[in-house]
Amino acid sequence: MKPSKINCLKCDDSGVRLSILSRRRYAQAGFCDCVKTPCPTCKGSGFLLENDELQREIAITCPECEERERRIQLYNSARVPKRFVNSRLQESHRDENNENVFELLKLILRNLPDFLHGLDLQRPGDELFKGMVLMGPPGTGKTHLMTGFTFQCSVILGISCVFQGFSELLSELRQGYSDGKSDVEIIEPHLRTELLIIDDLGKGRNTDWELGILDTLISERYNRNQLIMATTNFTEKEETTLSERVLAGDKSDKDQYINDTIRKRVGERIYSRLQEMCYFENLSGPDRRTEEV
Ligand SMILES: [Zn+2]
Ligand SMILES: [Zn+2]
Repeated sequence: MKPSKINCLKCDDSGVRLSILSRRRYAQAGFCDCVKTPCPTCKGSGFLLENDELQREIAITCPECEERERRIQLYNSARVPKRFVNSRLQESHRDENNENVFELLKLILRNLPDFLHGLDLQRPGDELFKGMVLMGPPGTGKTHLMTGFTFQCSVILGISCVFQGFSELLSELRQGYSDGKSDVEIIEPHLRTELLIIDDLGKGRNTDWELGILDTLISERYNRNQLIMATTNFTEKEETTLSERVLAGDKSDKDQYINDTIRKRVGERIYSRLQEMCYFENLSGPDRRTEEV
């Protein structure tokens, strides 16, 4: 495949440049230097003049400025952690280990605008789906792929996303409960977003209430035909799932390990709901964090 010519290497011609600010937790988007200022359409005024039906001159917001601004807002409200500021789902990051996952993410991206207009999402010759659970050991690049996917959705496609760590998601839901909100009100912000990505699904020990409200959220997104994506260190088999060391209850010096599957971690209800809507994909390969020197 011949790569299309890219004029601005800083932003891949998206017009949006990403950066990190020391006091912020999340990567920040802003205009790239290649964006012409003033805007050639509105000459930098932010407005265009049009005639209404009575031929009176009225000012409207410049659609070009507005759309660029909107995409910057979308990326910033997705809340991508700083260390993933360079994740874009670049073709150069495709390799033999992530090839399948890469293909699936690209297929979703290609079909996402149609999906949001009510069309089904389907892999050729396979069943309909509404999401993906990406499983694999720590360091295989799951979060890197998903934050790159978030960039593509928000900046390139103009789709609203929330990228959120599992613990942070649960703490936000709990906060809603403490504020005296109803279940529907608690999950409402996570239903408003077109794409919800949960990072580190199943992390920590969770209460029945937390898993219950999470089940409500996932079911409601399913009913509304909304996508859900997740990464997790837990897999479907005890042999491949994350092995966690637990403190031995007795006086023996031997370390004890538990090997919970994702099914055990999130409970039967959530697991079967996700099974219904998502592809469960495995990501293997070397730990990329130790490879980087
Ligand atoms: Zn640029
Ligand atoms: Zn403009």
